Amino acid sequence: MAESVELPGRLAILPFRNKVLLPGAFIRIRCTSHSRFPFLFVLFWCSVKLVEQELWQREEKGLIGILPVRDAAEMTSMDSVLSQGVGSESGERSSKVQISTSDNHKVDGKSHPEVIHWHKRGVAARALHLSRGVEKPSGRVTYIVVLEGLCRFNVEELSTRGPYCTAKISSLEMTKAEMEQVEQDPDFVTLSRQFKATAMELISLLEQKQKTGGRIKVLLETLPLHKLADIFVASFEMSLEEQLSMLDSVDPKVRLSKATELVDRHLQSIRVAEKITQKVEGQLSKSQKEFLLRQQMRAIKEELGDNDDDEDDLAALERKMQSAGMPSNIWKHAQRELRRLKKMQPQQPGYNSSRVYLELLADLPWQKASEEQELDLKAAKDRLDCDHYGLAKVKQRIIEYLAVRKLKPDARGPVLCFVGPPGVGKTSLASSIAAALGRKFVRISLGGVKDEADIRGHRRTYIGSMPGRLIDGLKRVGVCNPVMLLDEIDKTGSDVRGDPASALLEVLDPEQNKSFNDHYLNVPYDLSKVIFVATANRVQPIPPPLLDRMEVIELPGYTAEEKLRIAMQHLIPRVLDQHGLNSEYLQIPEAMVKLVIQRYTREAGVRNLERNWAALARAAAVRVAEQDQAVSVSKDVHKLASPLLDNRLAEGAEMEMEVLPMGVNNNEISTAFKISSRLVVDEAMLEKILGPPRFDDREAADRVATPGVSVGLVWTNFGGEVQFVEATAMIGNGELHLTGQLGDVIKESAKIALTWVRARAADLKLAPAEEKNVLQGRDIHIHFPAGAVPKDGPSAGVTLVTALVSLFSQKCVRADTAMTGEMTLRGLVLPVGGIKDKILAAHRHGIKRVILPERNLKDLVEVPASVLSNLEILLAKRMEDVLEQAFDGVSPWRQLSKL
Ligand code: ADP
Repeated sequence: MAESVELPGRLAILPFRNKVLLPGAFIRIRCTSHSRFPFLFVLFWCSVKLVEQELWQREEKGLIGILPVRDAAEMTSMDSVLSQGVGSESGERSSKVQISTSDNHKVDGKSHPEVIHWHKRGVAARALHLSRGVEKPSGRVTYIVVLEGLCRFNVEELSTRGPYCTAKISSLEMTKAEMEQVEQDPDFVTLSRQFKATAMELISLLEQKQKTGGRIKVLLETLPLHKLADIFVASFEMSLEEQLSMLDSVDPKVRLSKATELVDRHLQSIRVAEKITQKVEGQLSKSQKEFLLRQQMRAIKEELGDNDDDEDDLAALERKMQSAGMPSNIWKHAQRELRRLKKMQPQQPGYNSSRVYLELLADLPWQKASEEQELDLKAAKDRLDCDHYGLAKVKQRIIEYLAVRKLKPDARGPVLCFVGPPGVGKTSLASSIAAALGRKFVRISLGGVKDEADIRGHRRTYIGSMPGRLIDGLKRVGVCNPVMLLDEIDKTGSDVRGDPASALLEVLDPEQNKSFNDHYLNVPYDLSKVIFVATANRVQPIPPPLLDRMEVIELPGYTAEEKLRIAMQHLIPRVLDQHGLNSEYLQIPEAMVKLVIQRYTREAGVRNLERNWAALARAAAVRVAEQDQAVSVSKDVHKLASPLLDNRLAEGAEMEMEVLPMGVNNNEISTAFKISSRLVVDEAMLEKILGPPRFDDREAADRVATPGVSVGLVWTNFGGEVQFVEATAMIGNGELHLTGQLGDVIKESAKIALTWVRARAADLKLAPAEEKNVLQGRDIHIHFPAGAVPKDGPSAGVTLVTALVSLFSQKCVRADTAMTGEMTLRGLVLPVGGIKDKILAAHRHGIKRVILPERNLKDLVEVPASVLSNLEILLAKRMEDVLEQAFDGVSPWRQLSKL
């Protein structure tokens, strides 16, 4: 440790930037010769020279002076050559020398004036250890020096001439005699005692924590206290201000009192930290304890079969049941069940199922109903018109239905059943009815329901039993008077598990549905307030008793013109809205709508059409979203408002942020965007997004280009369809092969057709007179394309005969003519169903002539005039009439029809 040192009159000065070395403290510094410096570092470049010349090159390591320097950005006057010398001393704390850098120290050619403050007091230091390293290939030299602070000095004059700074100094150390005198001072003695006590306290505290106090204790006993004050203070983390004030404390009394204050503060901060830690630890262990106790409590309760949580749950369930408004007899039943449940242990079998059952009873809307507003027929009509284009007759019927309800709210009118192909608006009409009545809407899908239990529920004796779809639907909708849509009522089937239709009978019968009995519920539920609406694709599969309870309203499908209007007025605006777009972004011209209708969809309804718009809207949304991004990135950089961010930018200059102030540019962006990105759909875009066109009008012509093919019209679940029939002959034994997933009826039709053709072969001039058997040595194969789709029905009779006649006569059928009709063995053409759908299908396929059974003439009234005006309808009474119209040119069978 430092004994009293003889200081020379002049010392080489090593500047310490914002740092202080106190006497008795050690510091390790590293000096490196840089190639480029920030301006302030010129001084520290000088340090390398100093270390080199004063410490490294000297045999005997001399003393150097360590002088704190401080940056002072706020000072500005800088141009002068280094002003050396000591500034006027104005009090202990402000005794600083202000110097500025000079041109001599320009490193990068530019002048960067920076102001630094030299502290006036420093500490002489000696090097305890020195090492040197040279970096290759740059040749950069690095010195690592360990310095020990020895004693304070005062700077009399500072000179920066020469390779490093030097200063004329005077020692601030007291002589031995002076020191002895001070030690006699009673103030000093008191202060020493105080300091010692505080220091001891700190040491013992540190000892407890880190077990490192031993060595310091020894120091405390041996070193003079005024020196110890410096050493103590140097070992704490302190602000520069505090360090400087310690350095400036030349008077041992002042130094001791300052050190006492600092040590005490450090002691207090350690204590506070300790207290906080203890508190946190205390809290932790408290919560751990609590957790443990809770666990134990739970285990004990479980042992006793006594569970509070469940008790709470049951109380809540009971409250819910009380507020459910059950009829009194059901309430009694529910209470009985609840009493049973309360006696059960949660682990007991049946506990859960009983609870779920009671939850259902509590959840069911026994009395809760949506408040029915005074029905405004005009508003209802407007609503229907607003939601749906066309469908005048259907809307009229709905209004009639609503009018009756208005006059007699509890009227038991028939259940409306919308029948038609998919996508014609059956579901949306039903939901419009609900909206017009101000009731909630719930849809129950009956498609594929084969089990009666699906409607009526399973008895609770079964594992996994649950209520039927109706009760479940009511629970979901939460009111007892919704409009309930029984969707796809024609798709229910029956098997060994019972007949769902018979359960539906009970549901739809106003006499019986007052007390509908769901097996699971096991108490009657009043369905009479529910308004039922049903939908079906076809009427035929609906069992007659069920059909009897419904009023069928047919929605046959739309013409191209109707589809165009629906698309323009309803589908496109809705789809755009659903995708967050509007016509500002995506414009679909009418011509393109027509194109999509003709080339991409051939359905009776508009569902696929809607899907196509959705596909276009999605593609447009991607573009809009992409452009949205592009627009915001290309905006100007705005000045950051936050000073915090400003600072960050200044520090990390290479990192720049772009901020668009909220609310300022949104309008700009959208207007800029509107102009730049309005998408107008054209044919190329359609092809890109929807793919190549799926249909064209040449299909029929291509397919009937060879003899043996005819064009029929059939009726499917998806509405009317054009069905080609292909016949071919090959060497064989007169057998008939049929393919294309045909049902029994259609197979029989094929046999009838072949028989008729064989019987009339000579008359029809299909075979030479001497060879009357057209099947002589050959087999016939008839195929119905779209082989994966099952087909059945009698209406393909005339089409089959036409295909066979075409085959045997080797004449092509007219490509613009389609036909439908059942044929008897004697060649009479019988009427068939679905005429309107079939004619619409022919129209969609671009067919120009349709041959129909004469007795279907009456059905033509249903066909929209716009369609009829584009078609030539040919009526046939006998098969010969059909043949006459189906082929071009002279027909040998013309006279036959007159027979
Ligand atoms: P369905 O129940 O007959 O299969 P939906 O009621 O689900 O058909 O109708 C399919 C879509 O077509 C719905 O978005 C519906 O709004 C729309 N739609 C059908 N017909 C019309 C129409 N006449 N006017 C407006 N939109 C219609």
